[in-house]
Amino acid sequence: MPNMSLKKNEMPVQAPEIRCHNFEEVALGYTKEQAIDEAARCLNCKNKPCISGCPVAIDIPAFIEKVKEGQFEEAYGILNRSSSLPAVCGRVCPQETQCESRCVRGIKGEPVAIGRLERFVADWHNAHTENAPEKPDSNGRRVAVIGAGPSGLTCAGDLAKLGYEVTVFEALHLAGGVLVYGIPEFRLPKAIVQKEIDNLTALGVTMNTNMVIGKTLSVDELFEDGFEAVFIGSGAGLPRFMGIPGENLKGVYSANEFLTRVNLMKAYREGSATPIQEAKRVAVVGGGNVAMDAARCAKRLGADEVSIVYRRSEEEMPARLEEVEHAKEEGILFRVLTNPVEILGNEEKFVAGMRCVEMELGEPDESGRRSPIVKEGSEFVLDVDCVVMSIGTSPNPLIRNTTQGLEVNRRGCFVVEEETGRTSREGVYAGGDAVTGAATVILAMGAGKTAAKSIHKYLESVCTTENAI
Ligand code: FAD
Ligand code: SF4
Ligand code: SF4
Repeated sequence: MPNMSLKKNEMPVQAPEIRCHNFEEVALGYTKEQAIDEAARCLNCKNKPCISGCPVAIDIPAFIEKVKEGQFEEAYGILNRSSSLPAVCGRVCPQETQCESRCVRGIKGEPVAIGRLERFVADWHNAHTENAPEKPDSNGRRVAVIGAGPSGLTCAGDLAKLGYEVTVFEALHLAGGVLVYGIPEFRLPKAIVQKEIDNLTALGVTMNTNMVIGKTLSVDELFEDGFEAVFIGSGAGLPRFMGIPGENLKGVYSANEFLTRVNLMKAYREGSATPIQEAKRVAVVGGGNVAMDAARCAKRLGADEVSIVYRRSEEEMPARLEEVEHAKEEGILFRVLTNPVEILGNEEKFVAGMRCVEMELGEPDESGRRSPIVKEGSEFVLDVDCVVMSIGTSPNPLIRNTTQGLEVNRRGCFVVEEETGRTSREGVYAGGDAVTGAATVILAMGAGKTAAKSIHKYLESVCTTENAI
């Protein structure tokens, strides 16, 4: 008998007044009993609409059926056929606009908690399985992957499983991309990402960190070194600024720099080599997930007052609803329909306020959202001593500027053939944020998978003399 409750099983969480003082994970995960009870809400629909909402087409009803039966390892096997990072996606996927948005249980009541069940199964597997995957026999052919984010890691893993000798070149000192430098520990514990990276090294993938392609080595040099194909998964890590006066004052950060200092460099620890200036009143400009992460980090670093400053209304905010709710519970203030026009400094060039204007919404613009218009005579000064700019990112130009024959669009993203991830240069593939601009983990993973398949097909077709013998 299905469980006909209209509501999802609630996710146990750390209480807001406790969690806003620590960096430990907010959501604590379902117990075995909660997972089985939630799985019983799934109707195992014949036409499986939920699958069409998942960019990597996980067989959702099949894995949930196994959870219902308490066969968690079998459920993991089903997840793993389509996704190499289920513990990550179960936590950070925007499920409400993807798989869960298509669930029939959502027509009258809440959809099945697909993401929470995915997280439960992946965590159960990680807690109960010691075995690292076995290294497949090598086919002797080498592929280079640039960037160790979800697209690069997925591409590397899929190719390694096919016997390729894969080397990942990563600019930072740690692999993981945004999963380690951007998304904070309280949303995605780093140990989970590390476990996935350990699995890749067990498969034989070499992680070459502190290697900036375009500086330390060029794409051409990778081919000269004997790599037969290259995948570019270098993300979209170049921050944008508003271009208003005062953005170069001390105490103004891009969200990427702020989060990298906190997450990767542990700025909150005493004696950190990359400290963040102590701030009492922080303004985070922007309304996406990155802004929510920066604001919640600022609160945990000890700020008395943290505000999200967003030029549209809350309805237009691109951040996930759950993240907005968590931020509000933690005391983050939402100053919507507000736009900064100048950051003010003191004599020592530290931030000493932010001049803002109030906005109202006009006609929809090309994005379909109502465009914000300045309300006349509404200028005021917000009392802040730190400003974090979180208004978007674009791909870093380094690789495109140092590589011949790579077509990019006007946003600086690599142009690829959608079905294969093939770029305009032979043997070079690309995917993830470097192609789409800032998007999601699951889309980046999907692109890595597509490219791995195409690279395999391509290399099968270009048999070298050595391989032909
Ligand atoms: P990235 O994860 O950016 O990885 C690219 C890697 O390439 C980086 O490690 C970088 O150092 C490396 N690199 C760059 N240039 C070079 C070079 N020249 N040589 C060598 N290495 C290089 N998505 C979600 O689905 N859910 C969320 O909740 C979510 N929250 C987010 C929160 C934050 C703070 C941010 C910044 C993003 C968030 N995203 C979220 C978006 C998601 O993380 C990205 O879409 C995804 O990580 C893109 O993966 P990628 O592999 O394309 O690139
Ligand atoms: Fe849903 Fe994301 Fe899991 Fe796909 S990977 S089933 S979209 S949570
Ligand atoms: Fe289960 Fe919902 Fe998918 Fe139907 S649509 S199979 S109820 S998860």
